[in-house]
Amino acid sequence: MAESSLSQIEAPVQRQTMDADIACVGFGPATGGFLTTLSRGLLNPDGTPRVESSVLPGAPPQVICYERADDVGFGVSGVVTKARGIRQSFPDLDPKQIPMCTPVKHEKVLYLLDPIGASRRSITLKVTDGVIGAFRKLLPVEHDALELPYLPPYLRKDGGLLLSIGQFSQWVGSQLMNGGTVQIWPGTPVASPLIEEDRVFGVRLVDQGTDKHGRASDGFMPGMDVHAALTVLGDGPIGPVSRQIDEHFGMPAGHRRRDWAVGMKFVVNLPENCPLETGTVLHTLGYPEPGIFGFLYVHPDRIASLGVFVPSWFESPVRTAYRYLQHWMLHPYLWRYLNGGTLRSWGAKTLGESGRRGEPHLVGNGYARIGEGSGSTNVLTGSGVDEAWTTGVQLGEAVLELLQQKKPFTKENLMATYVQRRRASWVETEGRVAERSRDGFHWGIVTGLIGMAVAGATKGALAAPVQPREVRDHTPRLENYYRNRIPLAEIEKIRRDCAARGISIHSALMDRVGWPAIPYDGKLLVSHQDALLIGGKVQAPAGYADHVVFLYPNLCERCGTKICVEICSGQAITLGTNGVPIFDREKCIHCGACTWNCIMPHPERLERSIIEFRAAPGGLHSAEN
Ligand SMILES: Cc1cc2nc3c(=O)[nH]c(=O)nc-3n(C[C@H](O)[C@H](O)[C@H](O)COP(=O)(O)OP(=O)(O)OC[C@H]3O[C@@H](n4cnc5c(N)ncnc54)[C@H](O)[C@@H]3O)c2cc1C
Ligand code: SF4
Ligand code: SF4
Repeated sequence: MAESSLSQIEAPVQRQTMDADIACVGFGPATGGFLTTLSRGLLNPDGTPRVESSVLPGAPPQVICYERADDVGFGVSGVVTKARGIRQSFPDLDPKQIPMCTPVKHEKVLYLLDPIGASRRSITLKVTDGVIGAFRKLLPVEHDALELPYLPPYLRKDGGLLLSIGQFSQWVGSQLMNGGTVQIWPGTPVASPLIEEDRVFGVRLVDQGTDKHGRASDGFMPGMDVHAALTVLGDGPIGPVSRQIDEHFGMPAGHRRRDWAVGMKFVVNLPENCPLETGTVLHTLGYPEPGIFGFLYVHPDRIASLGVFVPSWFESPVRTAYRYLQHWMLHPYLWRYLNGGTLRSWGAKTLGESGRRGEPHLVGNGYARIGEGSGSTNVLTGSGVDEAWTTGVQLGEAVLELLQQKKPFTKENLMATYVQRRRASWVETEGRVAERSRDGFHWGIVTGLIGMAVAGATKGALAAPVQPREVRDHTPRLENYYRNRIPLAEIEKIRRDCAARGISIHSALMDRVGWPAIPYDGKLLVSHQDALLIGGKVQAPAGYADHVVFLYPNLCERCGTKICVEICSGQAITLGTNGVPIFDREKCIHCGACTWNCIMPHPERLERSIIEFRAAPGGLHSAEN
């Protein structure tokens, strides 16, 4: 039986209500772009309202933004961007104004060979590695890495910025709050949209003072209902409020969100002797597994952001971003730069990689969608920040136009202003080029790389002629994945041992197939638990319901893969004695990866899994990601 409905459990209480003109969900780059644009058009130069609030006559429109994370900049990630939209909003931007910000200087793409022999490589890759090895003296190979001689134009970030989106968000947020025309409320998760037939009329905030099941407990305070003429959804790729809108209104015909990745990153102090220059951008592929991509970006003051992406099409049931990230750092090409460094911050977050094909209905009566959750991220260029910002700017301009013309926020009016601007912009043109560029990865890394190159070269006219598959179709059973490497009886024994200890199975299996133990140094190579303490400072305020819910425990009992336990970025999901996972909200970093990695389809809504990811405060306490 299912445990509960989509949003928080209904309490039979009278909720307080508040009226606003515009309510925003989430403060990432998309809402940053929206509020920056909107706030500049609300007042005349003499400080009088240019347009009037409908709920507070005589005042400018009342605009409130609710952010789930405990502070502005804690819930976001991202680094390198062409910053076309951002620069248009801030033409005089001096990178020195924003901590960790610097212009992009050198870009490299590296193919990492496997110096250990533990990764799982196809015949084609083994042959490629053999050829590179044989000609290593003639090729630009150093420290087991081949520097690709050519960086396609669509991947280049010439003239762009390298920044910490956390720091950038704080910089934008403080300007907005100082301006006084909009309010931003961090630590205030939105539970659900308020929907009446075909209209969204505001949002409901999360209940406080509940037990873990959402039942009223000490100090119960039901979440307020905020009524607004326009609700702006900028809650990112895995936002629970946007997902409820999709449940209600459906997706446009043929649109589907199938592609995801979990990005896990470290922010580190590089060792003093590290020769990497500020502004360096390194992208890697090939190792620790061929399907895992890596990045290393150098900020000012010898600080670097580095990490890996584990995509949904990664054909492995032992997904673990954390251990793979450590093996990646230990690759000889990278370790010579990192050895002696220290961990400053750590985090993980979902990246929505369906791009335009995951685009929902962008507007409806009383609501508009911006940013990654609206399908803006470009999957060919690997760029989401500037696209998200720009869609926010487009909505900001559209809303100002409608306010000035005293027109209501109907679907029709939002289509004619916001959607029309978006369709005419580079976000749309480039999004269309990217639309099918990643399909090839659904059938292997080599097909994927060729597909991307072809899509890039033909501006999207051609792509790998394959059909994308669902995440669950990419996830083999453990027995099949390790068929030729570990005898079945031994897999079963490892599984029983790990279950008895309540731990995930990936480390034992990786050890068994030759991945060496991580030589912990207590500074940069630290245990996953230490990363939570040192690098993430993860917190969860008391008095809130669990936000990760296993809807059908009886189905979990039968699940042999338990991929939710393997993928969990914070080790917040562990094995329960009866096979039903246990969730510990004090370790959750709100990455959202569990919900799209679960391989069990929801019995009534096949496109969803049986893990529900809801809104809650807490998570990482770092604005460096
Ligand atoms: C590890 C990693 C590295 C990346 N690197 C790059 C890069 O180098 N360059 C690039 O261009 N892109 C990069 N991206 C992608 C980029 O981060 C996103 O495309 C971009 O942040 C999307 O912006 P957004 O505003 O749409 O959503 P988000 O940045 O996801 O912001 C959404 C906000 O909404 C909040 N929220 C969610 N639900 C609720 C709720 N119910 N109530 C209140 N608040 C809520 C969240 O806490 C968050 O702060 C990276 C992503 C990851 C994960
Ligand atoms: S939540 Fe999904 S992956 Fe986890 S045990 Fe249940 S069915 Fe398996
Ligand atoms: S439980 Fe939390 S940390 Fe773990 S995968 Fe789910 S959202 Fe991420």
